Amino acid sequence: MTMDLKTGRLYWPATYKEPQAYPSVEADLECDVVIIGAGVSGACTAYELKDTGLDVIVIDKRTVAAGSSSANTGLLQFSNDQLLFEAIRSFGEKAAVDHYWRCYDAISRLRDEIVPSLSVDPDLIMRDSLFFASNEEEKEVVEQEYQALKKAGFDATYLEPDEMEKWVPFKRPAAMLTKGDAEVNPYKLTYGLIQAAADSGVRIFEQTEVFLKKADDEGVLLRTEGGYIIKAKKAIFSQGYETQETVKEKNAVIESSYAIVTNQLKDLSFWKDNVMIWESARPYFYARSTADGRIVMGGLDERTSDPDKRDQMIVSKRKQLLAEIESWFPQLKGEVQADFEWSGSFAHMHDGQPVIGQYDRVPNSYFLLGYGGNGIVYSLFLSKLIARHLMGEKDEAFSFYSHERVYETT
Ligand SMILES: Cc1cc2nc3c(=O)[nH]c(=O)nc-3n(C[C@H](O)[C@H](O)[C@H](O)COP(=O)(O)OP(=O)(O)OC[C@H]3O[C@@H](n4cnc5c(N)ncnc54)[C@H](O)[C@@H]3O)c2cc1C
Repeated sequence: MTMDLKTGRLYWPATYKEPQAYPSVEADLECDVVIIGAGVSGACTAYELKDTGLDVIVIDKRTVAAGSSSANTGLLQFSNDQLLFEAIRSFGEKAAVDHYWRCYDAISRLRDEIVPSLSVDPDLIMRDSLFFASNEEEKEVVEQEYQALKKAGFDATYLEPDEMEKWVPFKRPAAMLTKGDAEVNPYKLTYGLIQAAADSGVRIFEQTEVFLKKADDEGVLLRTEGGYIIKAKKAIFSQGYETQETVKEKNAVIESSYAIVTNQLKDLSFWKDNVMIWESARPYFYARSTADGRIVMGGLDERTSDPDKRDQMIVSKRKQLLAEIESWFPQLKGEVQADFEWSGSFAHMHDGQPVIGQYDRVPNSYFLLGYGGNGIVYSLFLSKLIARHLMGEKDEAFSFYSHERVYETT
């Protein structure tokens, strides 16, 4: 079964017109590890396993990056939808702070180690993030978050309304600037990671849906839609939100989100350093720029998982997102329009943390569930944790993301 993950005019595929194509499965296959899904989470996993000496296969029923990874707006932030001071309340200071540093380190590693090794340039640009209080009552949220980030050692600067105006042409009761985030083209990133894995001998297959036939102490058997059998010692399910069709994770919630990408704009100099912008309200508006001078704005999440209901709202959401751009950047009135707009299903976990699932009913398998607004950042480090675990290396962090996690709060 195929889930309707997104609808509309997508921007990222238009930036990379002739991506590498991969064959479909046309025979029975055997391998050490099979990765199901070639979105950004499967691509990260393939990248992590490419030099381990294991025989690895990646299979996708669509083409590479054609699931949620093409609907992604490509903001890489160490801050999560669940703010640090909130995470500390839920999970205790050490666990929450460690989790935030893991997110931060994942972005740094992407910049320093991963991107330089790719043959496809994913347009990664390091950007500061501007987080603002949506109204007077939310000022306290920014203050608390600022204190929590500073205490944990992050580079954060508190901004009074007049100081905020040096960055963007509008002011709110309070704001904060953080360093260490980045913007990326998620589509090119996924292709780049997959290409790097393929260059190291990982076998990539597209247009082949697979179904779990059997998982036991011996390994995992998958059946393709064409009736071929794939036999693997281990399986890593990185099917994105469609993983819920293989194993239902009770912590996961599926909702809907919206985004637009504007026309190319002549001048964005009123938006200092094109800092990435987001706010304290929930759901929140967020914005970034693109390598070719457009604005990406997203938000207006709806609590529906029904794609028909989700898509009925695309036109009105486009209008609201454009209106928000004009209210933030009045200079653009009359000049700005949406060249691309789409809706997408969007999942997060009830408790705010991503999950590595290992379920008794599916032995020898990992489920990479990087759900939440930081899906790419989560995939970057969860894939590494899974790869290390699979290679028999111990990592304390692994259990923090277990679907059976028990937190010790202070
Ligand atoms: C509007 C919107 C904006 C977002 N913005 C951001 C953002 O700014 N930053 C961020 O980090 N995250 C963002 N996200 C979240 C992000 O898109 C996801 O976290 C991420 O793309 C998920 O990647 P994935 O590889 O897990 O899933 P997908 O990209 O969906 O990949 C899963 C793949 O598995 C394949 N598959 C599924 N079932 C099977 C099967 N049975 N057989 C074979 N193949 C199968 C699918 O075809 C698919 O290609 C956003 C999401 C939306 C909707």
